[in-house]
Amino acid sequence: MEYGIATKCIYGQGETFAQDGTGAISFPIYQTATYAHPAVGESTGYDYSRLQNPTRQRLEEIVASLENGTQALAFSSGMAAITALMELFRPGDHIITDADLYGGSIRLFDNICEKNEIAFSHIDCSKEDPETYIQSNTKAIYIETPTNPMMNIIDIRAVSQLAKKHGLLLIVDNTFLSPYFQKPLELGADIVVHSGTKFLGGHNDTLAGFLVTASEEIAQRLCFIIKTVGSGLAPFDSWLIMRGIKTLPLRMEKAQQNALAVVKFLQQEKGVSKVYYPGIEENPGYEICKKQASGFGSMITFEVESEKLALHILKSVRLIHFAESLGGVETLITYPTTQTHADVPEEVRIRNGITKRVLRLSVGIEEERDLIQDLRQALESFKD
Ligand SMILES: *Cc1c(COP(=O)(O)O)cnc(C)c1O
Repeated sequence: MEYGIATKCIYGQGETFAQDGTGAISFPIYQTATYAHPAVGESTGYDYSRLQNPTRQRLEEIVASLENGTQALAFSSGMAAITALMELFRPGDHIITDADLYGGSIRLFDNICEKNEIAFSHIDCSKEDPETYIQSNTKAIYIETPTNPMMNIIDIRAVSQLAKKHGLLLIVDNTFLSPYFQKPLELGADIVVHSGTKFLGGHNDTLAGFLVTASEEIAQRLCFIIKTVGSGLAPFDSWLIMRGIKTLPLRMEKAQQNALAVVKFLQQEKGVSKVYYPGIEENPGYEICKKQASGFGSMITFEVESEKLALHILKSVRLIHFAESLGGVETLITYPTTQTHADVPEEVRIRNGITKRVLRLSVGIEEERDLIQDLRQALESFKD
């Protein structure tokens, strides 16, 4: 019988103990670079930790089970995972991506990958039809949903049908909802990307990234890439992410509950002109999100009436931290213009709706009323 997701977060789908005979409940950290061979031509199954390490492998099994994939690979960061992923492509290839992506992904595509002669079309997949952008050399479609930071929703199933029709890979960065709320492989994606730094780790204390697939062929290619480029996650960091994942369901639920309360509060505030959250019916993607995910998550983007007010809020929050990143137990507020999306060309930023009046919240698991009180004092202490 297949375990439910809360059980998988603790045990994965396989053995519940390390096979070291001690019965240790917490999986050991195998802090070793290399492994002794029993004899010439023989191996314990472990040769060198760049190739494989038991702690990393255990984490990979858990993440693969959460996404209903067959193989997950753990990288030293989300960007390390996406950089390794790009090694599936070669000069002359073309990739269609959504325009509203994590800023670091856009920086990688437009600078490093373009230099390696991979071409990109950045389009709004929530409104435009990707099919019209397919060329003879197109190899993949790369999306996030909800998008970052504008919370547009892309229909994963529809895009996957299109990708299959044209023989393209569909890659979905599932960082914002995590496998607890959304499982893109079940909706037809070929590869799932994660910044494990965010909800999976959940404590703002460790960087990590993942690639997950259910395709044997892709898994083999990715295993070859990770052992060759050498960006696998270290044993201790693997252990930290594994520990974080054990409470993923509790954190996702509480953070979402807080986020819904914060959305309601922001919608009533005078200085707030617009709230972007997939769980409000005005969001054009509300119905699709409801269909393809089991929750709306805890990321909120909102626009205030003036740039001055935005800057005032960033200066005035006390409990909420003005910091990049997301998905941790601590509530963070981000200014996409100068932080996560600073390297995105200004005209693209504005076209996507990321003005100097836009702020992004990653809602944590504090007391709901303390978060609202903090936002209230920040908003209401503003004097124009
Ligand atoms: C943070 C983030 C990344 C990059 O991950 P790092 O762990 O910071 O390298 C990629 N995609 C999304 C959606 C992110 O939020």
